[in-house]
Amino acid sequence: MINAIGVNDQVSLVMALRKKGISDIEILRAMELVPREYFTHPAFKEQAYYDIALPIDCGQTISQPYIVAYMSEVLAVDKAQKILEIGTGSGYQTAVLSHLGRRVFTIEAHRELHNSAQQKFDDLELDNIVTKVGDGFEGWPEQAPFDRIVVTAAAPEIPSPLLEQLALGGRLVMPVGDSRDSQKITIVDRTNSGFEREQTLPVQFVPLVRCNENMD
Ligand code: SAH
Repeated sequence: MINAIGVNDQVSLVMALRKKGISDIEILRAMELVPREYFTHPAFKEQAYYDIALPIDCGQTISQPYIVAYMSEVLAVDKAQKILEIGTGSGYQTAVLSHLGRRVFTIEAHRELHNSAQQKFDDLELDNIVTKVGDGFEGWPEQAPFDRIVVTAAAPEIPSPLLEQLALGGRLVMPVGDSRDSQKITIVDRTNSGFEREQTLPVQFVPLVRCNENMD
């Protein structure tokens, strides 16, 4: 439930995002449609609309709203597109993407986070999201190809299965870097002649970790 203060805070958050340079009206609308307080840990509800990352269970974080908006903006999604997200986490970015694309497939390593995010998608009636527990390094070959792929955890390199599962004309966005201090948002476009890369914003994401099917 969002109270009057929550609504006001959500509006101020969207205004703050505009000031920081997010200009795509569809992105701002999607950010306004997703109540972030619903995805934050109960202990951090009061900070839900601050533009900061916050801790969630399993030692992970819910991303900073600006970064969620920025990654969604550079992903350049349209309503016809099928998206793969690696690292469901709280489900916040997934919920934003569900308002932008046709269907979002999202993979999370921790079963506990997966279960909690799935419950939120059910409660919010976001019925174009398909979730699973698994190792994001492998992608989701049964559902490939994807028009868009977004990875919300960092690695020194882009896992090759993800590049293979990107449709021709598709785009992948991921934080890439050897260490936490050297990560940059990396945008990869798959064209007829191969993969074109561009590095943009410096960021600090939790690492993409190798995992087995039933991590707690
Ligand atoms: N966008 C999320 C951020 C989640 S943080 C949000 O706004 O809440 C990154 C997530 O990636 C964590 O939940 C972590 O458990 C998950 N993760 C890390 N390595 C993974 C892997 N190999 N496969 C799937 N998920 C992974």
